[in-house]
Amino acid sequence: MSSSKSSAKTSTKSKKVNAANSTNVDLITPLKEYFGFDAFRGNQEEIINNVLNGHDTFVIMPTGGGKSLCYQLPALTSEGCAIVVSPLIALMKNQVDLVRGYSSKDNVAHFLNSTLNKKEIKEVRDDLNAGKTKILYVAPETLTRQENIDFFSSLTVSFFAVDEAHCISEWGHDFRPEYRRLREMMDQINEKAPVIALTATATPKVQQDIVYNLGLRKPDIFISSFNRPNLHYEVIPKVGKDQTIRNMVKFIQENKGKSGIIYTLNRKTTEELAALLNVNGIKACAYHAGLDSKLRADRQDQFLNEDTQVIVATIAFGMGIDKPDIRFVIHYNIPKSLENYYQETGRAGRDGMEGKCILYYSHKDVSKLEHFLRDKQLSEREVGGQLIDEMVAFAESGQCRRKVLMTYFGEKYTIENCGSCDNCLHPKESIETKHNSVNLLKVIKALDERFAADYVINILIGRMIPQIKMYRHDELAVFACGNEEEEIYWTSLIRQMLLEGLLQKDITEHGLLKITKEGAAFLKKPVSFKMVMSNTYDEANEDDEENTTEANGPATADAALFELLKDLRKQFAKEKKLPPFVIFLESSLEDMSIQYPTTLEELERISGVSKGKAIRYGEKFVALISKYVEENQVVKPDDFVMKSVVNKSGNKVFIIQQVDKKTTLDVIAKSRGIPMEQLLEEMETIVASGTKLNLSYAIDQMVDEDDQDEILDYFKSCETSSLDVAKSELSDLDLEWEQLKIMRIKFLCDYGI
Ligand SMILES: [Zn+2]
Repeated sequence: MSSSKSSAKTSTKSKKVNAANSTNVDLITPLKEYFGFDAFRGNQEEIINNVLNGHDTFVIMPTGGGKSLCYQLPALTSEGCAIVVSPLIALMKNQVDLVRGYSSKDNVAHFLNSTLNKKEIKEVRDDLNAGKTKILYVAPETLTRQENIDFFSSLTVSFFAVDEAHCISEWGHDFRPEYRRLREMMDQINEKAPVIALTATATPKVQQDIVYNLGLRKPDIFISSFNRPNLHYEVIPKVGKDQTIRNMVKFIQENKGKSGIIYTLNRKTTEELAALLNVNGIKACAYHAGLDSKLRADRQDQFLNEDTQVIVATIAFGMGIDKPDIRFVIHYNIPKSLENYYQETGRAGRDGMEGKCILYYSHKDVSKLEHFLRDKQLSEREVGGQLIDEMVAFAESGQCRRKVLMTYFGEKYTIENCGSCDNCLHPKESIETKHNSVNLLKVIKALDERFAADYVINILIGRMIPQIKMYRHDELAVFACGNEEEEIYWTSLIRQMLLEGLLQKDITEHGLLKITKEGAAFLKKPVSFKMVMSNTYDEANEDDEENTTEANGPATADAALFELLKDLRKQFAKEKKLPPFVIFLESSLEDMSIQYPTTLEELERISGVSKGKAIRYGEKFVALISKYVEENQVVKPDDFVMKSVVNKSGNKVFIIQQVDKKTTLDVIAKSRGIPMEQLLEEMETIVASGTKLNLSYAIDQMVDEDDQDEILDYFKSCETSSLDVAKSELSDLDLEWEQLKIMRIKFLCDYGI
């Protein structure tokens, strides 16, 4: 975290701490005693002194910057008890446990919320009355109850802390109406007690809301930089579902062993993607609000313990997760605001090391977000729509991503090239816009700064919409003065001028464009102004709901290679005295002659090939394929092969579960809508890949018990994979293909793995 370095830069924005009547006490001793640190980070010390000196304090610090210490330490050293308002009931217990961990006494910290029973509430109250408790966490709901307010007013309150203070603003991503009443309730308890408000994300608008709605009295504002220099930002257009998923799986496979989170829009997608990753050898779990809390806790633990490499989650995941070495955060769907994006990407690289942030962008995802807003109330729709617009502007921007993000958070970023975002690494050409910038400002001026971007653009390009006719704006001299340029040009230019501070957007008033002082100066004396066009990502129209075609596409086996592989298998089988299908299934050889695996790792991805088999038998096969590829100058279908869950592997888990339940094969085939023949093929592949299936219950129904042994004996010594040959060799038993097939699966289970 860079808070210490950059806080100096940004603290020009904060009000000066009133140093005249402040007394700074020794804070290092309690820091060491309670928290075990030798030094403060960033502006923690200043903040704590400010609280101890009785001033209202507003702390804006990114997650991971050491926010909670700013109220925990002064609470522990002050007389009385600090009341900490936090919306996260689920995390209160963790917080309290942490504070208790610093102290030798459990009653030093408590929480009061709806999860406690009467007896527990009484214990908390007794400790508070006895003055043993220094920090009390409460939910905002707790403060709405009069009996609690009356009780709290009888206590000595050292100060109030309002955590996650952005919840007070409907312009934040996490608005909680109960937060709006906090000032009133604090006044009833103790109007003199100072207030410290803390938030990890705040745009200038949210900041204003917090100060105003919490009634902070001449607060000293401490802003840490929001820049996360170790995070790398990248936006990739989503052209087609297959392509996106391949791209993502490939990325994760290249980052073997590194922890990551994938965020998606809905629960179904989390499950789908997690299954897909698992099939491709990546340990992944889905995480969403639809899972029961036990399962969620388990999966969170698995992720923390690194038994799971990737969590595929809806936004429900990550609150309070403290895993410092998350190496990538992927947004499979666009988040609904830049604040969400910042917070979610912010979970990567907390330890200051590598953190890759990839956003897959599709216009369809944007429409979906807009669609969700449809049923909301007008004001919420308006706010939500503007937040989405900002997110889209970020995604489509051709400018430094870091700069766009930080400008959004009201921070100036002046470095020319951050060197760690896609736009800085592959800069687009910038174009001179001096003349057009003047026209743009003139239009905004002619419209009295009373219209938003889309209307301004309509005037510029001279698009006659009914509103323009009604206002008779087509009679303005500037009407159509920019019709030589496309709409995207003007969208880009407006974004650039917002970024450079020549324009500002009044988000409280429907996003009206206003000319800033700098903009007015530019209009008076225009100078060179360059811009980078936004990306339109015209091709990014992927819809997650569309059905995936088979990931590997329709492909036919290379017949010559297939024969060579069969020969090699035969040779091997003789050597090892094993039936050939025990080495590799026919279908696996076929898959090899489509995918051309030339390493053992690639071989493992072939259907029906387990890791064990690849190691045991694979070397000669990949050697043969490598030689073949080289001699015939084969261009492999892709240097990366992805397994798909849609066909075979999609049924895998289902089949295993049903066999465990001893479901009849007819029923399994029917419920999957596949013929019996295909079911048996898939079962054989599952077994060949290393998973045992106990099919005795089905076999006993299908094959005469006496015949079973005879068939197994035959397989032990056979030299062919052909079931037709088996059928004729065992002609006295008069067996059907299904009977032979299921016996061969049993044989593979018993001897082949
Ligand atoms: Zn950059």
